[in-house]
Amino acid sequence: MITSRVDVTHVQIEHLKTLVTGPVQTSESALESHGHDESAWPSVSPSVVVYANSTEEVSAVLKYCSQEVIPVVPFGAGTSLEGHILPVFGGISLDVTNMNKLLEIKADDLMVRVQTGMHRMELNQRLSSYGIFFSVDPGADATLGGMASTGAAGTTTVRYGSMRDNVLALTAVLADGTIINVGRGTRKLSAGYDLTRLLVGSEGTLAVITELTLQVYGIPEKMAAAVVRFPNLAQGVEAASLIVRSGINIARGEFLDATCIRNVNLHDGLSLAEAPTLLFEFHGSASGVAEEAEAVREIVTEFGGSDFEWTTNEEERRKLWQARHNAHWAGIAANPGFRSISTDAAVPLSKLAEAVKIADEAWSASSFNHAILGHVADGNFHCFVLTDPKKPGELEEIRKVSHEITSKIIAMGGTCTGEHGIGVGKIDDLVEETGAEAVAVMRAIKAALDPVGILNPGKIFR
Ligand SMILES: Cc1cc2nc3c(=O)[nH]c(=O)nc-3n(C[C@H](O)[C@H](O)[C@H](O)COP(=O)(O)OP(=O)(O)OC[C@H]3O[C@@H](n4cnc5c(N)ncnc54)[C@H](O)[C@@H]3O)c2cc1C
Repeated sequence: MITSRVDVTHVQIEHLKTLVTGPVQTSESALESHGHDESAWPSVSPSVVVYANSTEEVSAVLKYCSQEVIPVVPFGAGTSLEGHILPVFGGISLDVTNMNKLLEIKADDLMVRVQTGMHRMELNQRLSSYGIFFSVDPGADATLGGMASTGAAGTTTVRYGSMRDNVLALTAVLADGTIINVGRGTRKLSAGYDLTRLLVGSEGTLAVITELTLQVYGIPEKMAAAVVRFPNLAQGVEAASLIVRSGINIARGEFLDATCIRNVNLHDGLSLAEAPTLLFEFHGSASGVAEEAEAVREIVTEFGGSDFEWTTNEEERRKLWQARHNAHWAGIAANPGFRSISTDAAVPLSKLAEAVKIADEAWSASSFNHAILGHVADGNFHCFVLTDPKKPGELEEIRKVSHEITSKIIAMGGTCTGEHGIGVGKIDDLVEETGAEAVAVMRAIKAALDPVGILNPGKIFR
C-alpha cells in the first residue's frame, strides 16, 4: 500500500526513458498541466509525465513501476470533475494521448476499434463519411479511454446508453504489466465474469485501458431540436419525467435553470428567454420527429410550458446544443476568477422533482451561488456551485452542504454520482451509498488486480 508521496528518482526517470518511445517530461509546464482536472480540487504535480505509444510500452512501464512501487495515474484529456487525475501520492502521470489511432471501422457491424487516447469529437468527424456516429457525449472533448474509465454518459444516454452500454470489448494492462483482452465484438455475450464492465468505470485504479471496441449507430435521417420554458423548476422537471415515462422516443432531454440560460446567452450570443428551460432532440424519419415533437408539445403544455418551438434546421439545432454543451464554460465566463464544483446526483425518475427541490433549497440557503442543469431524462442533475480559489476554506463548506444533500439523495434511492465517478471527492458518499461490505468487495478486487497499489492510489477508497 502506498501511504505517502513518492518522488521518482533521477535514476528511475532515466530508466523510464528506456521503456517508452514517447517523451518523458519533468518541465514545470508538463507537471502543472498534468496536476489538475476541471474540478476545483487544488493541483498536485506528478514527479514526471511519461507518454506511452503502445500497449507494450504501457506494459513495460507498469511492470517497472510495480517493482519499484511508483504510483501511476493514467491521463487522458484531464476533463474529469472529481480530482480523478490528481497524483495525490506523486509518481508518474502516464499520458496515453499519443495512442490515438482509429484502428478499425466495421460499419456493417456498427462497431469501431480505437486506441484510448483518441478524442470523441475526432472519432465522430472520422466516422461521419461512413454514415455512423459514436453516441456518448459528455460535453467536454474527452478521450475515449477517459470516458471508459469514468463510465461517462451525457446528453444522449436516454436513447443510446452510456459508456457502460457501448464498450463491447477492450485491451487493458494490469499493474504487473499483464496484457488482457476482454469482451468480444458481439452484441451479446455470456462468457464468464464481465471484466469489460468491471474495468469500465474503474477510474484508472484497476488497469490502463489501451484499446476499445465501441458500438456505433447509423446517423439518423432527420434530427430535430425543441425548446420550451416553464414558470418554475418543478414544473419543467415533472414534464420531463412524464415525457420519458410516456415512451416518447427522445434522443436528448436536458434541463437548464434561468441562471444557466442567462450564462449561455452571454457566452454564445443567444437570446433565449431567461426562464427554466427544457431542450429536446428527436432522431428518426421526417414524419417520426414531427410526431414526437407534437407529443412533447402536448405534455409540456399540460405542465405550464410556453413558447414551445421546434426545428429541423441543422444550424439552429447545432447552435442550441453547442450552447448546452458550453453551459459549464459559460458559467465560469460569467464569474471570472471563480472555479466550479459540479454535483452529480441521479435518482429514480419519480423522485427527480423532489431531489432537485432539495438541492435547490439547500444551495439557496448557503452562501454560494449556484445554477442547476441536468440530463433530466435520465433522472440525473448537476448543481454548478461557484467557489473563489483565493478562499480555499470554501471547499470544505461546499463539501459539507453537498454531503448533506447527497445523504438525502441516497435515502430516496438515488446515487451520489450518475456519471462523473468517485475520484477523491465522493469516497465517503460511496460507503454511505453502497455499504461497507460492498466497498470491501471492491477493495478485494483492487488487491487482486493491483496488489502493490500503484494504480491511481487515493481514488475510490482511501
Ligand atoms: C464542461 C464539461 C462537461 C462535462 N460533462 C459531462 C457529462 O455530461 N457526462 C460525463 O460523464 N462527464 C462529463 N464531464 C466530465 C468528463 O468529461 C468525463 O469524466 C470524461 O469521461 C473524462 O475523460 P478524460 O479523457 O478527460 O479523462 P481524464 O480526466 O484524463 O481521466 C479521467 C479518469 O480516467 C482515468 N483514465 C484516463 N485514461 C485512461 C486509460 N486509458 N486507462 C485507464 N484509466 C484512464 C484517469 O486516471 C482518471 O481517473 C464533463 C466535463 C466538463 C469539463
